[in-house]
Amino acid sequence: MLTSRQQACLKGIGIRQWKERGPASSEMEEAETIELAQELPPREEPVAAAATEPSLALATDTAQPVPDNWEQLIPAITACQRCELAEKCTQKVPGVGNQQADLMIIGEGPGMEEDRRGEPFVGRSGQLLDKMLAAIGLQRDQVYITNIVKCRPPDNRDPKPAEAQACRGYLQAQIDLVAPKVILSVGRISAQNLLGLQQPVGKLIQQQHVLPDTSIPLKVSYHPAYLLRTPSAKAIAWNDLKIVHRLLND
Ligand code: URA
Repeated sequence: MLTSRQQACLKGIGIRQWKERGPASSEMEEAETIELAQELPPREEPVAAAATEPSLALATDTAQPVPDNWEQLIPAITACQRCELAEKCTQKVPGVGNQQADLMIIGEGPGMEEDRRGEPFVGRSGQLLDKMLAAIGLQRDQVYITNIVKCRPPDNRDPKPAEAQACRGYLQAQIDLVAPKVILSVGRISAQNLLGLQQPVGKLIQQQHVLPDTSIPLKVSYHPAYLLRTPSAKAIAWNDLKIVHRLLND
């Protein structure tokens, strides 16, 4: 049963109505049937262009150790010149939120609004993410939010593998420092990079994962920007959130 507050949150996300089904045999089947808002919101960001540029020659400082404490880590990210994204972005977007959070959310990379404000997920997809979190009783400042890359890729293209790799040490340090109970990975780029897999996000969503080399459960879900363009996927995203909620409360 959902509280009236959760029901209001779901309405805000665009999920209008639900009803319980019979006993479920798996997590995915356990989802309530959800009737979704049909209106298609305006596209948040241009569709990412295919990566056609040659791969980057990385700066030599990728060999530099990444700090293992917040006091040095954030300045190190801010000063980073490990790849050419650093030259093109307005500012670095290291991450935001509770540094001891149980839930860590990892997206792809800053968009235009995030690049302008220096904070992840503050554009339209961030507003949807906030509503999704509220639906499982979490405020933005209770979780830690970051991205695979800390600089905005030009024209919102996908980060290249070399760029994700250049940033990986920072992300790993953030994961080590936060030591979350659960990771929510949103979108294909995030999931494929974190898991080292190439399967489509729709397939990864259906599987159970742990972050490689750790025992941290990792839930894959759709990126909020995709949900804004594809409201029919919100039912799956809501199910993913319920799994995250359950993992957090296990
Ligand atoms: N999309 C992301 O993946 N991350 C952000 O911070 C904003 C939009």
